[in-house]
Amino acid sequence: MMDYKARQKKLLVSLGTHSLDAFLITHLPNIRYLCGFTGSAGTLLLTGHSSIFFTDGRYTSQAAEEVADAKVVISHTQTLQCAAEWIARNHKKPGLNSKKAFKLGFEAEHLSSASTQRLRRMLPTGCRLQQTSMLVERIRMVKDVEELKQLRSAVLVGSSLFDITVNRIRAGIKETEVAAELEYDARNAGAEGMSFSTIVASGKRSALPHGVASTAQIPSRGFVVCDFGVILTGYCSDMTRTVHVGRPTKEARHVYEAVLEAQMAAIAAVRSGVSGSDVDRAARNVLKKRGLAAYFTHSTGHGVGLEIHELPRIAAKQAETLRAGMVITIEPGVYIPGKFGVRIEDMVVVTEGGCEVLTPTSKELMIL
Ligand code: ZN
Ligand code: ZN
Repeated sequence: MMDYKARQKKLLVSLGTHSLDAFLITHLPNIRYLCGFTGSAGTLLLTGHSSIFFTDGRYTSQAAEEVADAKVVISHTQTLQCAAEWIARNHKKPGLNSKKAFKLGFEAEHLSSASTQRLRRMLPTGCRLQQTSMLVERIRMVKDVEELKQLRSAVLVGSSLFDITVNRIRAGIKETEVAAELEYDARNAGAEGMSFSTIVASGKRSALPHGVASTAQIPSRGFVVCDFGVILTGYCSDMTRTVHVGRPTKEARHVYEAVLEAQMAAIAAVRSGVSGSDVDRAARNVLKKRGLAAYFTHSTGHGVGLEIHELPRIAAKQAETLRAGMVITIEPGVYIPGKFGVRIEDMVVVTEGGCEVLTPTSKELMIL
């Protein structure tokens, strides 16, 4: 059972720091994190005294079943309006007798400007809207015991799917066929879905960092980048392995080894207290020495949890300090346009003295 109360408590501390009287949560993964609701419509209102979840009639029984540590209100209008009406009824007419306004925080990144304007009009006088950024996301960076358990299971399912998938990769079949079988197996293994569009990029297409599976046929000689993840009870996995069909050239081997060395160097740099940019630099330095840094065109990694891309970011200029319990990916890559690309990605959990690699799959170059 997820400890929603403890999470809400952390958020209340954060509200105190930002001198907010209440907070409106509209981002669904944040709502799920704070009260368990997995549906697709709802608004959560958190004050120092109460947590109220507003949803509509379609979710009456689902909310009753899932929502914990928040009062459920079934709204007959839009949930945002319902929340505004609740505030109007329940806050003690602020601004009338006191000089201080009632400050309501909202998630600026997750509420359209049209909705924000609408909300502002619906609020009672004396209630001020204040935009916030990433308050819940910052709490979500450090995973609790229950989340770590779910993430471990998702990673293991992903890894075992790769073991099956790799046996299906051969010259002449389409990338989409490889992806289709993988995704079919994922659903059979209990996945709610894939974390993102499965990437199977072969031959020259492997040089596309985001080469989602196409109808291209796997060539008789070349790399195949497989990057995919499964969602298990809400939590995402994310892994990449690059295999080679046919005999690799000297250059291909050289690049693969460089990427692997960079990935291992970044993993070795992870521990509580270092910054995301420290880890990113560790990977980049290896590729610099090999003359490949210019071909590493994305960041080294990202947090992962209820969403596939979460905080912290593992990239240049990221001062965010890693803390024990954060789950991040380490995924350097080298992409030589018109030729080929290689990426290797694991999920790791940050510990006090280093990190634990969650992905058990071998990283030795696999030649099919
Ligand atoms: Zn990935
Ligand atoms: Zn990733």
